[in-house]
Amino acid sequence: MPELPEVESVRRGLQAANLRAPVVEVWRSSYKLRVGKSWAEENLDCLKGNVPKDIRRRGKYIVWEFAGPGAEANGLVIHLGMSGRCGVTTAAQPKVVHTHFALRMADDREVRLVDPRRFGGLRAGPLAELMASEPLGALGPEPLDRGFGGAMLAERLGASRRPIRDALLDQEAVAGLGNIYAVEALFAAGIFPMVEAQRLHASAWERLAGTIVTVLQRGIDNGGTTLKDFRNVEGEVGRNQDDLRVYGRADEPCPRCGAALVGFVSGGRSGAYCPRCQPRPRTRLVR
Ligand SMILES: [Zn+2]
Repeated sequence: MPELPEVESVRRGLQAANLRAPVVEVWRSSYKLRVGKSWAEENLDCLKGNVPKDIRRRGKYIVWEFAGPGAEANGLVIHLGMSGRCGVTTAAQPKVVHTHFALRMADDREVRLVDPRRFGGLRAGPLAELMASEPLGALGPEPLDRGFGGAMLAERLGASRRPIRDALLDQEAVAGLGNIYAVEALFAAGIFPMVEAQRLHASAWERLAGTIVTVLQRGIDNGGTTLKDFRNVEGEVGRNQDDLRVYGRADEPCPRCGAALVGFVSGGRSGAYCPRCQPRPRTRLVR
């Protein structure tokens, strides 16, 4: 699933396309998008005649601002789900299979969402309303914003009895972090992924906050991680999969100490850790 660095790569690609011509047509396939089902109405037609402005990101969501006919800004929220891809094409280009959304601009370019598994989501409406309501309203702090740090993490997760890796995936605690980058950040911080969150000390939270920022930033610099589906706006794969230290590398030697990495599954999601660099604490383990 695209995490913060992948969504950020898509955001940058859309921003670089410099889409500034007004929206002349909104096209939507007849298929439901699964994430979107739990949201309010998609309401995409409100974008017609709007002028595209800045494209931001909140957690794993793209938030595109539009100037509408009124004083209030409109917004379009795009969630890429598992396999969603955004691209910019000419309007004349035939839609590829699994295209579910196309926004045509007056300069004859189209932004399209292709999503074979349809786990993505779309929603448009007044920007302020979108930011305050589901799913954006409940999101936790952005890890790449100023002010993010160990104290903030400890405040949000320090009472949790869940394994730290699982706790980190809670989007209301930290926005945008998913399994791959959580597993990588825990390795870099030398923290056993299944230790109860409440057992971490202030120094560990501080270290972890630092490595979360490092692995996310590296992911962005590498253009995202492509394990299977992820492509940027140009249709290219990311490079961060070659830079992962432990994720997907169970049984391979630890890049730091050479010990065999150990695979684990928790909450239905797999990961890996180094038994020497991320030692299992001696008492009160979470299974
Ligand atoms: Zn090691």
